[in-house]
Amino acid sequence: MTKHYPDLMLYIGGSWRKTADSLPVINPADESVIGAVPVASRSDLDDALAAAEQGFRVWSRTSPAVRSEIILKATALMRERIDDIAHSITLEHGKPFAQARLEVVRGCEFFEWDAAEAQRTYGRVIPSEPGIRYIVHHQPIGTVAAFSPWNFPMSQPSRKIAGAVASGCSIIIKAAEETPAGAFHIARAFHDAGLPAGVLNLVFGVPADISSYLIPKPQVRLVAFTGSTAVGKHLTEIAARHMTPVLMELGGHAPVIVCDDVDPVAAAITSAVRKARNAGQVCTSPTRFFVQEKIYEDFVKAFAEKARSTVVGNGLDAATQMGPLANHRRIEAMEALVADARAKGARVMAGGERLGNRGYFFPVTVLADLPGDARAMYEEPFGPMALINPVSSLDEAIEKANALPFGLAAYGFTHSAANADRLAEGIEAGTVSINTLEASVPATPFGGVKESGYGREGGIEGLTHYMTVKNVSHRMSIA
Ligand code: NAD
Repeated sequence: MTKHYPDLMLYIGGSWRKTADSLPVINPADESVIGAVPVASRSDLDDALAAAEQGFRVWSRTSPAVRSEIILKATALMRERIDDIAHSITLEHGKPFAQARLEVVRGCEFFEWDAAEAQRTYGRVIPSEPGIRYIVHHQPIGTVAAFSPWNFPMSQPSRKIAGAVASGCSIIIKAAEETPAGAFHIARAFHDAGLPAGVLNLVFGVPADISSYLIPKPQVRLVAFTGSTAVGKHLTEIAARHMTPVLMELGGHAPVIVCDDVDPVAAAITSAVRKARNAGQVCTSPTRFFVQEKIYEDFVKAFAEKARSTVVGNGLDAATQMGPLANHRRIEAMEALVADARAKGARVMAGGERLGNRGYFFPVTVLADLPGDARAMYEEPFGPMALINPVSSLDEAIEKANALPFGLAAYGFTHSAANADRLAEGIEAGTVSINTLEASVPATPFGGVKESGYGREGGIEGLTHYMTVKNVSHRMSIA
């Protein structure tokens, strides 16, 4: 493994490019500067648009089998380079090295799934009167402008690049400036695998400048974004002015309903371990726990104990179970939410205060008995914070789960088939998982309802956004 952080560059039209301006990349474990991310100028963006237009011409006429071959070659290189990629991710994001490796694997799985599935994007022939055929084709939509966030530096850009490139589109992706190395490694693998120039273009810069410049361009035929609901709405408004479709994966505030037929200790331990994953900076992170009264105190106690035993530290230390938060904004958000909940009468059962003052470390924080007006109950914490409240019935739990404008992931713990069915039917969310806190795998569709977004990534549904439907009516003679 080469233990250095990469010399980051833009990737436009098949070439690497340095820029006059750059931004520092900070290691959240010690706040040191580990690299410089290039800032694209307008002229770099114009070049990316022209390159993507040319790339689309070539790639959309390349057979799905050949496209798949190149994607799989690039993915094999990413798997070979897993330790290097994971090391860069831990340096820039802070997550434990083992979790960074798992993220690289997940990113590769997205590519592998889409590379296979894109070969099965069948059209159909519609039954018709003699002498005419109606044939439905799925065609790649064109150039995609994509924006990926900092919480999963590799797997977030993978979803979007995989969908676009497998479908025959070209893509300009603006990956996260705070965690740029994951996307950089993906571009490097595709370059080395022989992807034609212009199919994949990677830029960084000032997010609002890049999105407001690219989205209105006529070459851009789809806007794909993952991030906060506020930014998603803003980008959707820009896109709507140009009738450009969007794929939006936005915020969540995942409810977890714990029924009194399960072992509260087992459910609490599973939940506390999951809460620590990625330091809770996951849109599907289990957050609002609604626990039936009979097992409530046992659940809270076991959750708090497990939370307190979580080893927080530098992600490069083998013993670390949870790294720092990714940036200082998350520390401020955690502190503000804890102070507000405390003032409103919540019990702080574990954590609640920043650890040290160098590096953005914050422990798994467990708050119990929060009133409904505590900010954390309706603002996505996006950090290692669990909010636990008792409920007297399943109906009450479902009502509370559905009370927010979010609807991304939701979870339930129960061994009753009847309860599981009620949760699956009654919760307003894009995914409902029972007795597991895994919200999605590459083969399943992932996305939100209500203000959690629009569209799905993954599964057979994921590719449909990157394609348009064309009907061809073909009469066999002119008369
Ligand atoms: P933020 O709302 O400023 O930014 C969220 C993401 O959007 C970042 O990646 C940012 O670079 C990007 N962004 C911001 N303005 C943009 C613009 N005008 N055009 C294009 N991209 C833009 O907040 P933040 O402090 O970076 O992150 C905190 C919040 O973001 C969290 O509370 C969470 O709700 C959300 N978030 C969600 C996900 C997710 O996986 N759904 C990932 C990261 C952040």
